[in-house]
Amino acid sequence: MQIYKVGGAVRDRLLGKPVTDIDWVVVGATTEEMLAKGFRPVGADFPVFLHPKSGEEYALARTERKNGRGYGGFIFHASPDVTLEEDLIRRDLTINAMAEDDQQNLTDPYHGQRDLEARLLRHVSPAFAEDPLRVLRVARFAARYAELGFTVAPETLELMRQLSESGELEALTPERSWKEIARALMEDQPQVFIEVLRECGALKVLMPEVDALFGVPQPAAHHPEIDTGVHTLSVLEQAALHKQPLSVRWACLLHDLGKGLTPEEEWPRHIAHEHKGLKLIKAVNERFKAPKDCQELALLVGKYHTHGHRALELKPSTLLELLQSFDVYRRPQRFEEFISACEMDARGRKGLEQRSYPQADYLRGAATAARSVAVQPLLEKGFKGPELGEAIKGERLKALKAYKEAASA
Ligand code: ATP
Ligand code: MG
Repeated sequence: MQIYKVGGAVRDRLLGKPVTDIDWVVVGATTEEMLAKGFRPVGADFPVFLHPKSGEEYALARTERKNGRGYGGFIFHASPDVTLEEDLIRRDLTINAMAEDDQQNLTDPYHGQRDLEARLLRHVSPAFAEDPLRVLRVARFAARYAELGFTVAPETLELMRQLSESGELEALTPERSWKEIARALMEDQPQVFIEVLRECGALKVLMPEVDALFGVPQPAAHHPEIDTGVHTLSVLEQAALHKQPLSVRWACLLHDLGKGLTPEEEWPRHIAHEHKGLKLIKAVNERFKAPKDCQELALLVGKYHTHGHRALELKPSTLLELLQSFDVYRRPQRFEEFISACEMDARGRKGLEQRSYPQADYLRGAATAARSVAVQPLLEKGFKGPELGEAIKGERLKALKAYKEAASA
């Protein structure tokens, strides 16, 4: 058997990027031989194995044929007579379809190296269209390598466009899509992921609620960039620049969905967009089965981001309601993430990226003030049950009044 490094490891070495996980392809071997060498099978009928020591993935060279919709509809053919070239041609992009032996000799039948130099994300063959997930993968690689000047080759973009129009994207499982979305959002330029999806028409299929924001104006006084879609991309860009976690980036992407529902005659104002957007945020959350923390934060940020911006003007009672809604006493981290999302929203405005956001510290101080109310003295006074709850709230409200007075003094 011959063993080659393939995919990302080869690509990233040639790009001079750190290689994190290595994928291997094995030519000329059978499943039985792999098992005899101690490799552990990954799935029952999938010719992929884990190395007994390194745990890295070793796949038998295989060809694929599509029969039916979605990813389930693939027939794999793995046998010792499948050549390296035959295995490489089923891969998505030319830059991912190179292999390297242990002497670093490159096998590059589809000109991945040429495309690396030309900074092009180009599909290997028309079989690209057989797995719609590749649309998301290409958009993700575009986000990852935007910094190096990579773009999607026009003919690949055209293929992605056809795939988006064909309805095939709808056959993707939430799990496969979410994995790509989550990885793409964590890249340094996640906004490029959304831009590429939009360019090929996939955004309209996957997240029509986000797609609908493009072309929707906002008041120039608050939003010099005007367009709500452009604003959303900038917010995402800021979230990446400020190294925010996935939940914050997800919330940033979805925070303004309600603006897509405003009747045109009300433009550029978006009255109550926070509330109107909630059902859309819920729909997107559920479509991709986003993890619970992402879902929760997106809904809370959607509902309360304008509260965040107006923090310094909020009445103590409204501040208290905000803190209660976040259960800031037991979930301090989630409130921090909310504050971050609000700050990214404020910074994601043209020309205002560097403006300070005093609301952040003000909200932190309010949370500290409310949290500092001690329960023990109230228990000692004999409060119980619902009355105790009311008494705590009363004390917290007092604390917030004092906090607001001190802050404005
Ligand atoms: P990363 O750095 O994100 O791991 P990668 O290129 O190694 O990038 P993997 O998802 O680890 O990506 O996949 C390894 C290789 O398998 C890819 O380089 C590509 O050749 C191939 N591959 C993975 N998924 C697909 C797919 N859906 N369609 C076609 N080829 C794929
Ligand atoms: Mg990999």
